[in-house]
Amino acid sequence: MSMQERSILLRNLRNYLIFLKDYGFLEIPSESDVQLKLQSITKTSSSHSIDTNQRPDMKTKKTTISIEKVREELGECTRCHLHKGRKSIVFGSGNPHADLVFIGEGPGADEDDQGFPFVGRAGKKLTEIIEKGMNLSREKDTYICNIVKCRPPNNRDPKADEIEACNPFLIKQLQSIQPKAIVALGKPASSTLLGRSVPIMKERGNWYKYEGIPLMLTLHPAYLLRAYTLENRRNVMNDMNKVLAKLKQ
Ligand code: URA
Repeated sequence: MSMQERSILLRNLRNYLIFLKDYGFLEIPSESDVQLKLQSITKTSSSHSIDTNQRPDMKTKKTTISIEKVREELGECTRCHLHKGRKSIVFGSGNPHADLVFIGEGPGADEDDQGFPFVGRAGKKLTEIIEKGMNLSREKDTYICNIVKCRPPNNRDPKADEIEACNPFLIKQLQSIQPKAIVALGKPASSTLLGRSVPIMKERGNWYKYEGIPLMLTLHPAYLLRAYTLENRRNVMNDMNKVLAKLKQ
């Protein structure tokens, strides 16, 4: 190992340990995980993702519909009132063949401006959880989208008719991606996916199913930023460790 590789390895290890401490871990969560993380951070940044040799080849997924086709079908949507106030349709971003999909509630101002989900402060927190906490690449290993694709005014929760109008496209996105697991971020996303009002503090950390796909509920990164307690951070990382274990099955 060259000096440069060694210093990158040490820096990454240090950052990871600081992250773990920040999220309330006094020990490294799992020995087999550590081996995986140490292996992957010695590789180039492009292999910072799940080793595709260790999971079913994404190309063998028999997708019934491509993500581009779903986007095409959505078109310049006017199916609900939200189109009136939007700058962009925030369809989704990441790898449309990923094993893991994160679903948020709806775009905020930054997302509406840029046309991509989770690019504001909450998005940076989500990226940190994915990249530092889970050692995955946000772009390569995940796909991220929302319950509704247009920004609700003043960041209010999406209304039932807006969710209903957008839902067929969320379902088609999932049919196209065929992930191994979904993570619902926060109460509105969890309640929408389960079709009932979910007490998120009580039910986070549990597995459910959405359209036959394992669904994990966790706290929304915006909530985590507002209530930045050790307990909340630790709970989110425990939820994400369950998701990592599911992806390895
Ligand atoms: N919050 C969400 O739920 N979705 C986004 O895209 C951004 C913030």
